Amino acid sequence: MKSHAKAVVIGGGVVGCSVLYHLAKAGWTDIMLIERSELTSGSSWHAAGGFHTLNGDPNVAKLQAYTVQLYREIEELSGQSCSLHLTGGVMMADTPERMDFLRLAHAKGRYLGMDTELITPSEAKAMFPLMDETNFVGAMWDPVEGHLDPSGTTHAYAKAARKLGAEIVLRNRVVELTQEVDGTWNVVTEQGTVKAEHVVNCGGLWAREIGRMVGVELPLLAMEHMYLLTEPMPEVEEFNKSTGREMIGVMDFKGEIYTRQERNGILLGTYEKACKPWSPVNTPWDFGHELLQPDIDRIAPSLEIGFKHFPGIEKAGIKQIINGPFTFALDGNPLVGPVQGLTNFWCACAVMAGFSQGGGVGLALSNWMVHGDPGFDVWGMDVARFGEWATLRYTNAKVRENYSRRFSIRFPNEELPAARPAQTSPLYDTMLANNAVMGDSWGLETPLWFAPKGTEPKDIVSFHRSNDFGPIGEEVRATREKVGVTEIANFAKYEVSGLGSEDFLNRLMTNRMPKTGRIVLTPMLNEFGRLIGDFTIAKAGEERFMIWSSSAAQKYHMRWFEKHLPKDGPGASQVRIHRFDQTLVGLSIAGPKSRDLLQKLVDVDVSTKAFRFMDFREMAVGGAPCMVNRITYTGDLGYEIWMAPAYQRLVYKAIKDAGEEFGLVDFGMRALLSMRLEKNFPTWFRELRPIYGPFEGAMDRFVKLEKNDFIGRDAAAREQAEGPKLRRVSFIIDAADADVMGDEPIWAKVGGKDYGTVEKPHGYGAPRFDTDGKEVRGSMAAEGASAVRGIIDGDWRVVGWVTSGGYAHYIKKSMAQGYVPAALAADESAGLFEIEILGSRRSARINVEPPFDPSGEKMRA
Ligand SMILES: Cc1cc2nc3c(=O)[nH]c(=O)nc-3n(C[C@H](O)[C@H](O)[C@H](O)COP(=O)(O)OP(=O)(O)OC[C@H]3O[C@@H](n4cnc5c(N)ncnc54)[C@H](O)[C@@H]3O)c2cc1C
Repeated sequence: MKSHAKAVVIGGGVVGCSVLYHLAKAGWTDIMLIERSELTSGSSWHAAGGFHTLNGDPNVAKLQAYTVQLYREIEELSGQSCSLHLTGGVMMADTPERMDFLRLAHAKGRYLGMDTELITPSEAKAMFPLMDETNFVGAMWDPVEGHLDPSGTTHAYAKAARKLGAEIVLRNRVVELTQEVDGTWNVVTEQGTVKAEHVVNCGGLWAREIGRMVGVELPLLAMEHMYLLTEPMPEVEEFNKSTGREMIGVMDFKGEIYTRQERNGILLGTYEKACKPWSPVNTPWDFGHELLQPDIDRIAPSLEIGFKHFPGIEKAGIKQIINGPFTFALDGNPLVGPVQGLTNFWCACAVMAGFSQGGGVGLALSNWMVHGDPGFDVWGMDVARFGEWATLRYTNAKVRENYSRRFSIRFPNEELPAARPAQTSPLYDTMLANNAVMGDSWGLETPLWFAPKGTEPKDIVSFHRSNDFGPIGEEVRATREKVGVTEIANFAKYEVSGLGSEDFLNRLMTNRMPKTGRIVLTPMLNEFGRLIGDFTIAKAGEERFMIWSSSAAQKYHMRWFEKHLPKDGPGASQVRIHRFDQTLVGLSIAGPKSRDLLQKLVDVDVSTKAFRFMDFREMAVGGAPCMVNRITYTGDLGYEIWMAPAYQRLVYKAIKDAGEEFGLVDFGMRALLSMRLEKNFPTWFRELRPIYGPFEGAMDRFVKLEKNDFIGRDAAAREQAEGPKLRRVSFIIDAADADVMGDEPIWAKVGGKDYGTVEKPHGYGAPRFDTDGKEVRGSMAAEGASAVRGIIDGDWRVVGWVTSGGYAHYIKKSMAQGYVPAALAADESAGLFEIEILGSRRSARINVEPPFDPSGEKMRA
């Protein structure tokens, strides 16, 4: 074993081998993988080997599509077969709600280059005759699904990596990780120490233990998972013989089961409700190529439904039940990327579908390590997306919830209950007493809306408008016409201070830093000129700045700030970044009477002239020391008031008491988001994400290319010079009783005009191939159709996608924001648009000026 390497990958499961392969392919050959036992000695060896491209997050779905496409490549390079069976598969819906869910998934596929198709239960039965189709109302066909040999695939990655120069060391456990002052890692193993520039945790079942070696508790948990294998079945053999095809894969939401052909029989796996964690605190190091004791009682309820839905399977004898552990993060997506607070310590863990996701994870991580950027929008699997609140016990509760809901529909207005309440602000009990329906905002309980007195504060979950519609409308109208108050403790808040702060922020941000007492809005870009942040910054004093942004991005942004802290030059070490998290909380008051209300609470002049729009001031509010921003996300006259938690109740009470005479109401996050829609304001992670440039995102006025050499400036200048490819636009839609939820396709009647590509940017096209390497076009039912089938419909074409939207209660219109080709956005003659809501195309029109207060005079008043 060599004693130095550029990178050491810990763990020889499918993920570690994929990371090794991708690093080698990217040109890093001085790399090694260290495996405790043999390759596949964690979860990988006993996986069911299924793969598919579908994922709730379109960006993760794209990485899954890449993974599937990759298998041919590693087979060729390694000479090792993955035993790929690209059978295609169906998802079966047994209720109209589940069918709505499939319609949404299918609609997203239109611009993701995915070739799904909605089919009837009878069409599904034709491909999987063991089913009783009368149990279902419909299905979705996905051609890019199948199964493979998990061990062969892991070895194919490993052999391909070796061919490119990587080294693999087996039967050698990593026992300790320490770091030198210069950043060099000492990877202490049973066979000696390797000095490495980078360390990658691909420890699978032991990823937590490896995290603990560097003081990090990774939010993941192993769950027991069972699948059964039947004896050979004559019906399967008969189907294979008569059609010349293998049976397809089937996912059954109701039964929480997946099933597919395995040799001449059937494999059937469950995601049962009565799920069970495995080794919840520590994973034993001596766990090897072992299986766990099957527990048929636990999966009996799923099997009962499964046998009813697929009576053909019930008749077959069960040959074997496999029970093995594999790991999940809280939301079921992987934990990938550099860990905030550490240097060159990388993660690729909690990959619960290693054979669907392993390739994409390896590609993204290797890009990140080699080029400093994952190259794709990987937020959905970024290790930075969870905060400190994701402790071992919190993770345990959330992973169990996620596992047991794997095949459940998540409605757009559905808040999940496990591990809540975790963090609460001082106003939590008051908000409950006010009949608030609370939501989880990055681990913090936050009021979403207020149910009328005497009614139960509870969402009726639905894809359609629901019981919150009326009350939110009331909250919005009262705020727009009088004044409202809302809690904003869930924003991210930072302070950057010390000599060099202004230069530091100028280097990071696209906008000029404000003068003392003033506020600016500013995006932040990566080196590729893509949007990685959107901030409100106030200059609180000389070299002292207060910063607000999206709560969910706190670790993501801290990681970026820390990476770019000036290391040399005057004042370099003096810049300090403080993340407040819940040590600073806030309240926002908004509406035409908000100034009169604030004036009653303070002893300074807050008139228009004395406290202008975009001013920042420290003042006592209701007797409590506060910082006040004259700005609000409602886009109205309004203020954000920030205070230490100890003062929040005092300030709230003062606002409520003084507000009575003005008709003050409480409003929640949903009303806030409704109000921002009618101002065309974007949101971070929906409209603004790293796949878009600042000009595409319509953030032009916040980008000052001439101010200095900020990160991403050259790329942004190029984007501006060449003209953005896409453009964020806002729509008003003739919706019926449902509004957009995000990710819906946008159609336009373009006739013969060509406005350019419509595929959502991500880095590569979606694969379409079959087991012979031929392009697959459509389903068996529509073989031979065009690869862009579903995108073109006469003169109509899918031209973009919705990022977010909802009902704008004040203007009483359904609204959406999304991206379309910039040429189309600029073409005033392009009048007709349609946005697909729950499978129905509703007419829509671009709305250039914000429908509420287009000139901004109310906001500036
Ligand atoms: C019953 C079952 C069915 C499944 N079915 C599917 C399926 O159909 N499709 C699918 O995509 N996925 C499936 N999975 C999940 C799949 O197995 C995992 O996603 C995948 O194996 C994760 O791979 P990994 O490389 O992250 O982890 P692991 O396979 O756990 O690999 C981690 C490796 O790291 C090594 N290691 C750990 N600590 C150290 C150390 N300190 N030093 C050196 N080496 C170390 C371990 O020995 C191990 O080999 C299934 C899992 C189970 C249990």
